[in-house]
Amino acid sequence: MAALKRLVDRLAAERCLPDADMLALLACGDGEVLSHLFARARAAREAVYGRDVYIRGLIEFTNFCKNDCLYCGIRRSNARACRYRLTEEEILLCAEAGYRMGFRTVVLQGGEDPWFTDERLCRIVRALKAARPDRAVTLSVGERSRESYQKLFDAGADRYLLRHETATKAHYEALHPPGLSFDRRMQCLADLRAIGYQVGCGFMVGSPWQTPADIARDLAFIRRFEPEMVGIGPFIPHRDTPLGAFPAGTVEMTCKLLAIIRLLLPNALLPATTALATLDPRGCEKGMLAGANVVMPNLSPPDAREKYALYEGKASAAGETADALSDLKKRMENIGYRVTIARGDHRSFPDGEAALTRKKGEHDPCTT
Ligand code: SAH
Repeated sequence: MAALKRLVDRLAAERCLPDADMLALLACGDGEVLSHLFARARAAREAVYGRDVYIRGLIEFTNFCKNDCLYCGIRRSNARACRYRLTEEEILLCAEAGYRMGFRTVVLQGGEDPWFTDERLCRIVRALKAARPDRAVTLSVGERSRESYQKLFDAGADRYLLRHETATKAHYEALHPPGLSFDRRMQCLADLRAIGYQVGCGFMVGSPWQTPADIARDLAFIRRFEPEMVGIGPFIPHRDTPLGAFPAGTVEMTCKLLAIIRLLLPNALLPATTALATLDPRGCEKGMLAGANVVMPNLSPPDAREKYALYEGKASAAGETADALSDLKKRMENIGYRVTIARGDHRSFPDGEAALTRKKGEHDPCTT
C-alpha cells in the first residue's frame, strides 16, 4: 500500500502518472490509499478555490433530440419520452428566480433540438445577459457548427459543456449510432476552445464496455486538453434505451476519478453531478470530499425535470429549488464547505474575461 500512496504523492506533485501507474491506481480499492488520494485532492482544491462551493442553476429547456445515443433516455427513438420545450419567457423566468436565490451562472442544457436555431438561441442568450449582466451563461446543447458556436459566443455565452463521452474511438462508436462521429465531437471541442469559451469535457463512469485502459485514455485526454471544467458522473441505465440492461457505474469509481482529475488539473471546475447524487443520497458530499467544487441544482419547472430523463431515478426530480438550495447549504456546511454567490469562473478567466494570457504546459514533466 505504501507504494500506491507514493503514486498518489507523485500524481499530486507532478500532475501526471505513467500509464502503468495510473492503471494500478485505477485498480486499487484499498481504503487507506483512497483516503490519502481524497485528502490530496481536497488540499489541491483548497489551495486554488478555498472551501467555496460554486453553484450553477441548471435549466433543462428541451428534451427534443435529433440524436440517438444508445445510452440516453431522450434519444430520438425513445417513443415513450414525453417531449417538451420551454418558451423563451419560461427560460427567462426560471433564470430570474435563480438569480434572486443567488445563482450567478445559468446552464442551458438540452437535447439537440433543431427548433432552437442560432437565431432563437442567441436571442435567449442576449436576453439573459441583458437582464443580469453579472450572470455567466453556460450552454450545453451538443454539437453545432463552428459558426453557430461563434454566434452564440458573440451573443454573450461564456462557457460550453460538451462531454467527449470517451476518448477511445472504438468505444465512442459502440455507444453511438453510425451518424455520430468521434472526430466530429473532438472537432467541436477544439472549435469551442479556439473561440474562447471556458470549455467543459467529460465522460460517464462505468459506461457499457468501458475498460480501465479507456479510462486511462480519458484521463490522458483531459490532461492534454486542459478543459476549464470536467463533468463526470456514473452511467445509469435507462430501460427504454438499447443499453438499459447494463449495470450502473459506481459512486466509488466516480469519486476516485474526481480526485485523480483534481490532481491532474488543480484549477478545474469540477461538479459533483446529479447522476452521482442519484446513486447515493450523500453523493454530493462524497464528491466534494473527493475534490469537486461545483454543484448544479435544477432550476427547471418540476414537470420539465421529470421529463428530462437521461437516465432513471434522477435525483431532485421534485421539490422547490429554494428548499433544495437551503438543504445544500446546510449539507456543505456540515462537511466544512460553503456555498458561494459568485460567477465562479476558472482561475485563468479572471472576472469572466477571456484571458488571452493563458499559459499552458509551461513546465510539463509528462509531455506525452
Ligand atoms: N445533448 C447535449 C447535452 C445533454 S446530455 C450534449 O450532447 O452534450 C448531457 C450528458 O448526460 C451527456 O453528455 C452524457 O454524458 C450524460 N448522460 C446521458 N445519458 C446518460 C445515462 N444514461 N447515464 C448517465 N449519464 C448520461
